[in-house]
Amino acid sequence: MYRLWVRSHADMPLRIYQIVNTFRYETKHTRPLIRLREITSFKEAHTVHPTWDAAAAQVEAGLKIYREFYQRLAIPVIVSKRPEWDKFPGADYTMAVDALMPEARTLQIGTAHHLATNFSKTFEITYEDAEGAQQYAHQTCYGISERCIAALISIHGDDRGLRLPPEVAPIQVVIIPIIFGESGDVVEACQRVEAALKARGVRVRVDSSDERPGAKYYRWELKGVPLRIEIGPRDLKKNSCVIVRRDTAEKRSVPLEVVSDTVLELFEEIHTNLFRIAKKRLDESIIDCDTLEEAREKASSNICRISWCGRKDCGLEMEDNTKSLPWNV
Ligand SMILES: [Zn+2]
Repeated sequence: MYRLWVRSHADMPLRIYQIVNTFRYETKHTRPLIRLREITSFKEAHTVHPTWDAAAAQVEAGLKIYREFYQRLAIPVIVSKRPEWDKFPGADYTMAVDALMPEARTLQIGTAHHLATNFSKTFEITYEDAEGAQQYAHQTCYGISERCIAALISIHGDDRGLRLPPEVAPIQVVIIPIIFGESGDVVEACQRVEAALKARGVRVRVDSSDERPGAKYYRWELKGVPLRIEIGPRDLKKNSCVIVRRDTAEKRSVPLEVVSDTVLELFEEIHTNLFRIAKKRLDESIIDCDTLEEAREKASSNICRISWCGRKDCGLEMEDNTKSLPWNV
């Protein structure tokens, strides 16, 4: 296709976005969300450029998108260059984005490949440059898979279930009516708060099922809904409600007239808090090591930072010694 689309330097940069469905033939070591058998939504960028430098700039642009995307999921990442023997086959070089999972293992949650002219030579993707000469085009590719969801669930979850950053929570606020006997006023107040939040673009639901409030709390906590609002007769007397944060379990009484503003402020605070907790864990897990022995001891529960001359034999020795993969940062 690129052969048809790229004829002259004026056709570039060419940037294609595609969603990929595919099936993994080797069935060993598949894991839900991390290494799927049936891949349904790899989201990929494929780009074509006139020069090596232009493709390298696109790789940088791709990494910037990764950083911003994971920032919005409140996931801190390490960006590194993969060593020669661990790059994508056919890539000039591979940049990778990794996150730290709870069991102290890293998970590669993105890669950006500079393909140089390796594929354009195979598929004859050439263009006419400004001087009229035929040149091979330079390509890149990068993308995300369901692994971003695995990282989101694992990194933020706690013993009570999911904790979702508000921006990506399908339900951001759940309102629980606390009803004793006559319920008319309480239900009406819940609906008013729901309408006010909806008007501000908040994804909100009133849980008016027949269960006890405690059972409702438990269920919505499990699903990671960032905020719970409780409204009962006692709150109504004070013209207020109780807002409970999923991330910290902190409760506060809030006057009804400022509920929407408070909710939007708390969304920011929750995001910042989830990122801060994850970043602290990541930073604390990075340990400076002086010797391979030290790295071997610590690599199973940490990310070890150690000097490396960049030579392959030394890198492979490190890999053997520590049972870990070296990255260049
Ligand atoms: Zn060396």
